[in-house]
Amino acid sequence: MTDILARPTQLTVDLPLQVTPSASPVDAVRRAQILANPGFGQHFTDHMLSITWKRGEGWHDAQLGPFAPLQLHPSAAVLHYSQTIFEGLKAFNLDDGGLAAFRPDANAARFARSAARLAMPGLPEDAFVAAVEALVSIDRAWVPSGGDQSLYLRPFMFATEAFLGVRPAHEYLCLFIASPSASYFPQGVKPVTVWLSEDYIRAAPGGCGAAKTGGNYAASLLAQEQAAAEGCDQVVWLDSVERSAVEEMGGMNLFFVFRDGDQVELVTPELTGTLLAGITRDALITLAGEHGYEVSERRITVTEWRERAAAGSLTEVFACGTAAVITPIGKVRSTGGDFTIAEGDPGPITTALREELLAIQHGTVADRHGWIHRIG
Ligand SMILES: *Cc1c(COP(=O)(O)O)cnc(C)c1O
Repeated sequence: MTDILARPTQLTVDLPLQVTPSASPVDAVRRAQILANPGFGQHFTDHMLSITWKRGEGWHDAQLGPFAPLQLHPSAAVLHYSQTIFEGLKAFNLDDGGLAAFRPDANAARFARSAARLAMPGLPEDAFVAAVEALVSIDRAWVPSGGDQSLYLRPFMFATEAFLGVRPAHEYLCLFIASPSASYFPQGVKPVTVWLSEDYIRAAPGGCGAAKTGGNYAASLLAQEQAAAEGCDQVVWLDSVERSAVEEMGGMNLFFVFRDGDQVELVTPELTGTLLAGITRDALITLAGEHGYEVSERRITVTEWRERAAAGSLTEVFACGTAAVITPIGKVRSTGGDFTIAEGDPGPITTALREELLAIQHGTVADRHGWIHRIG
């Protein structure tokens, strides 16, 4: 930590970073206990990074300091009108002893796109990546090394201006926090059962479906409760107009694996503007192409899903996202009845893609695509 203090630190050429190491970090014994069984999103590291934006001043006052609660004015715009966006990405200990984040540049670009949709100022993408590097560096002792464990990073930004009028706020706070996270599947990868939501939708054309914003999640919770009441693990969202095209599963993108003899086709719903453009989705499209699979981004309906599962040509379905990487789907439930994909087991292509992506992230296979962003 002393060498960080000794060096003048900048997030970008115009944005100096004030570093204040925590005076009371979690002790090594307690930290080791947490890292042995971190769960997901329950424990946080010793530091956080914050950057302020104000109309007329732009981005300023970048601080890397102790993790601490915030103070907000009760009229802060975010609490009333939900002007807020977030990101999710992971940092890993590599097999060669190095430390890296997975595609932070892609998260930086998406954060800027989400900001634009919510009429918020865009954080410069180089500042985003530098903030990830600074936080992971100072809290490197919190990056777990076991199995598919990682340090989950949560950048987010919200309107802090104290004002009840409805317009884009004039003040924002952007924060980066980090949470050690375990494998989503400590007992091995188990297929989930999904509920096709017909009563509720996630996003409509012209809405915020392509932005990573809290409102999309708030609007999804009732459908998730309904899914749980129906004995399902997750909601599958359908298009808002016809309720026939499949869009996403919870906060994850979907892939369908079709087989015809040796021919394999992977289909993922096209990005119509109501779906979130997942970075895991993008990586898997690339990896699947390298395996010689045909990859199609197109419309896929519930009817096609049901009929081709019954005919046996749809052999695997999985969801993907940063947190859980790849989750196989075994069973589908809806008001129209249940159906099962293959035998309800994780399929060979699902398993192989999952293992390959994890191997790239952990540095056990070569990074051919420049996805591994090393942190010194
Ligand atoms: C974050 C998110 C995803 C997955 O994106 P990744 O970049 O792969 O983590 C998919 N759908 C929704 C709704 C999301 O919020």
